[in-house]
This record gives sequence, C-alpha cells and structure tokens, in this order.
Amino acid sequence: MKFKFLFTAFALLFVISSASAQSDYFFPEGARFDPKIPSPEKYLGYSIGTLHTRHDAIVGYLRELARLSDRAKLDTIGETYEHRQLVVLTISSPTNMDNLDVIQQDHLQLVDPENQIGDYADQKSIVLLGYNVHGNEPSSSEAALLTAYYYVAGLHNEVTNALDEAVLMIDPTFNPDGRDRHTTWANSYKGDPLVSDPTDAEHNEMWPGGRTNHYWYDLNRDWLPLAHVESQARIDFYHKWYPNVVTDFHEMGTNSTYFFEPTKPFGSENPVVPRDNYDGLNNLFAGYFHEALDEIGSLYFTKESYDNSYPGYGSTYPDIHGGLGLVFEQASSRGHLQDSRMGKVAFAFTIKNHVTSSLATVRASVAEKNTLLAHMENYFESALAEGKQAGGGWVFGDPADDGRNQAFIDLLLRHKIKTIELNEEISLGGKSFDLGKAFYVPNSQKQYRMVRTMFEQVTTFYDSIFYDASSWTAALSYNMPYVRYTGKNELAGKELQREDLLGTYESVSKSEYAYLIEWDEYYAPKALNYLLDKGLYVNSAFKKFSIETGYGLQEFGYGTLMIPVARQEVNP
Ligand SMILES: [Zn+2]
Repeated sequence: MKFKFLFTAFALLFVISSASAQSDYFFPEGARFDPKIPSPEKYLGYSIGTLHTRHDAIVGYLRELARLSDRAKLDTIGETYEHRQLVVLTISSPTNMDNLDVIQQDHLQLVDPENQIGDYADQKSIVLLGYNVHGNEPSSSEAALLTAYYYVAGLHNEVTNALDEAVLMIDPTFNPDGRDRHTTWANSYKGDPLVSDPTDAEHNEMWPGGRTNHYWYDLNRDWLPLAHVESQARIDFYHKWYPNVVTDFHEMGTNSTYFFEPTKPFGSENPVVPRDNYDGLNNLFAGYFHEALDEIGSLYFTKESYDNSYPGYGSTYPDIHGGLGLVFEQASSRGHLQDSRMGKVAFAFTIKNHVTSSLATVRASVAEKNTLLAHMENYFESALAEGKQAGGGWVFGDPADDGRNQAFIDLLLRHKIKTIELNEEISLGGKSFDLGKAFYVPNSQKQYRMVRTMFEQVTTFYDSIFYDASSWTAALSYNMPYVRYTGKNELAGKELQREDLLGTYESVSKSEYAYLIEWDEYYAPKALNYLLDKGLYVNSAFKKFSIETGYGLQEFGYGTLMIPVARQEVNP
C-alpha cells in the first residue's frame, strides 16, 4: 500500500512538473494558469509537439474549454466536404461574454460610414486568430490549442487586461480535411527514436498531400472566388464581425527561419488597399513581433519574398475590409524532427514560434486598439467617399444565361457588395442588357474597394515578379459581359438579396420526344451530373445543329445535351 501511495505521489509530481515544463517552454515568463482548466497536454494525453493532433481532438479540446470556462464559447460555423466541423472559439472576459451582442452591434457601427464614432473607450478590438489553411503546415493548429489555453486559463494581468479590451476568436483549422490527411501521414510514419533524416518517409508526404482541401483546392486562394464550402462559411462569419486583425499562419522550407509582415514593399501590395495599412499598421505590428521573437532568440526576416497583392489570400482580404491581415511563415519540421542547415528543427520549436506570434498579435491588438478602430472607421468612410467621387458604377448581365448571372450575383452578395436589378433595359458601350438580364453595381457604396476588385482590370504593376496570382478580375472569370457606367445619375432598380436568387427558374414545356440542354449554360455540367445520378441516358452533340423546338427554330452548339424520352428506364 505504501509503495502504491509513493508511486501515485511520484506519478502526480511527474504530471505537474511535465505540465509546467510544457508551459515554461511555450509561454512567456510569469504566466499563471487556473488549475481547473486542463492544458492541451492534459486533455490530449501527450505533450504538444510529440504528435500531430487530429482535428476532432482539436475541436474536442476547444469544446471542453467552452464547457468549463465563462470566458469562452464555441460556435460551429460550417462543415467540410468530409463532414469535419468548422469551429470558432470566442474568448473574452466573462463580462464581455455576457454582452457579446452589444459589443458586436457597437463594433458594426465602425463599418457603417453613416456613423461618426471617434471615441472608442467602450469598443473592443476584434481579433480573429486563424490557423492551418494549408493542412500540411501543421504547427499552427497546435499553436491554436496553446493560445486558446493561454487566454482561457491565464490568471496573470497580461491575459485579464487583454480579455477586458479584446474579443479573441480562434479558428483553429481553416482546412480540416487537408490537416487530417497530413496528420495521419506524419503520425503513422513517426519513428521511435525520431528520424530526422530528410529522406525518411515521415518527411515526404505522398501526393496529393494535405495542403489543399478535399477537392485539392488551395483554400488560401479562395477568399475571393469562394468556390468551396469552407470559404463560404468563413466569409459568412467574417461579415458578421469585421475583425480588426486577422492572422494566417503557415510553414515554409525547413532551411528557412521565420517570416512576419510587412510583406515585400510595393511590389506585392494590393492596388486598392490604402497606404496607411502598409506604411502604418504593418510597421506598427512588426515592432511587437520582433520584440517577442527576440525574447526567445528566434531568427526571422521580413519585407522579403511574401506577397500581399491577391485579394483571395487570408492575409489580404482583411486589408480590403478595414482590418489588418497578417501572414506568418515558420520553417517546417514537416514531421516531428528534421535536419536543416542550422541543426535539427523540432516540431515543438515550430509551434512555439507561432504561439509567440499569436500572443504578440493579441498584445499589439490591445495596445493599439484605438489606432485599429480609427483605421476601420476611416477605411469605410474613405471607401464611400472615393466611390462617390468615382461616380456611376458597373452594368453587367449575360443576355441568355440566367445561371451565370445568378452565380455571379451570389458571389457579389456574399461579399456584401450592393447589387441592383435594373428596372428597364439599357444599352451601354455597344452592349445591350435586356430587362431581367441587366444588373448594376454602384460605385457609391462602402464596399467600393471590393467593387474595384471585382470589375477593374489592373495592368500596371510596381514589379514584374509575382509570388503567384497577378490578375483577379472576377467579372472576367465568369465570362460576364459588363460595361463601366459613367453617368451622373444612379440607375434605378431593386437592391438584391441572396434570397432573391432562389427558385427563379422556369420549367420547360413537356416533350414526348427529347429535351436539349445547351452545354455553355453555367449550370449544364451540374445538370448533367444530376441526370446521370438519376439513371437517365444522356447524349452529347459533336456538331452544331439547328432544329425546330417547342420555342421555334433554334441553334445549338457543340456539346449540347440530348435526353431522349423513349427508351429511358426512368421517366424524364
Ligand atoms: Zn502555407
């Protein structure tokens, strides 16, 4: 019995000392934690950095924090194609958590150019800490767990002050499907003892890897096109809050060090973002990052290589919404331990750097609260003023393809761009837009800079070298006919809502012989998929043809689908 007691005491001592050793390693000196809140290590049963944490365990830990603490709540904002939850843990002081609706309404006043606020004493910094958009850059979600613990369980002044002045939102995994692909790989191939040889299988994930989502799409290019469910859910949440600061954590080559913004000056900047974002906020925040990384002796670089021009990056989209988007890059251990030119890179070390930047981001967001809130208020006021000065707007509409019109309008409305269906037909710039196919986006709106992003063609640049995307005119990517309207008077019509887009298709008249679907209709591939799924036989035309239809003589192009009525096994 005595032996057993001694053993238990020893085991307890070991747990306490290893828990505090983890805290000592990852967190700044002086951090104190509420013992009633489990650390990630205690909840998961292993030390952070010794395994890659599965997304379901990440969600489980955040849910446990929300269950135990009056500082936190967990929201599910969507799910991935593989049915993994997209979650956001909101953390603030218990008083702020009780008043979250009021804080949100107050904050949204900044986004409305009609309101003049100026005094921000009662306002909070809204900080969205986002992680792991590239699933095989895994240190960031582990950092998200530690950051969540730091602010939910922290008892020291730095934490309690931050929670009085800020609302933190932790989105631990932007890309859960990709993350779990890589997590399974890295944990399966982990050696004991660890193998740091870069040629070992653990460090060479099999194609297609975990960078992308289920459909192998890079979600860090999707904040503008919103092609995927993860991005659609994220943008929907984004526009409920308009965060002041948004982080986007990544990993780069093992032989590198650490990168924080500013990105490469001028050559990599977005043409519609006001200069004070780059010259003011970026440099202001950089001071906090270099101080925090100096403190732990981590090497880093800035103002080189990385790009901030394409609006579909997670670190650029916030810059076009009155916030500050921040990209961070950590040299990857890609596995648990890997040799580099400067010694071994350990997974725990990569996590520590992202934790350090997460905490520095919150520190800066609290200390510079008034600057951030004034920036956001000025941003939307100046956007509206610039839009009014530009005048007019953009008229668009496909003359035949309602599906294309609806899809493009849906994108505009998801980005909160005011869009109007015109009351009458209009001819502009040699193009005719018929009633029901004529739409108008006025420049005079607070989302003017997003309007420019959608329609303007930028053809002059500071630099000839791009990180990747150099062009993103969304109207062109939809092959949408559009014309710049420069008239002095606003065009009249009905402002559209997303609900207006549902269920407006007309059904075709019944045929005893066959149905035809033009292949260049926007949703034709989706229709084909639906028909095949229902077990119908469908033919495709390899030549153009004209034919008498229930609607008169009509021309049909290559690829037209023909669904015969006879010989089907189900009734079309
Ligand atoms: Zn990345």
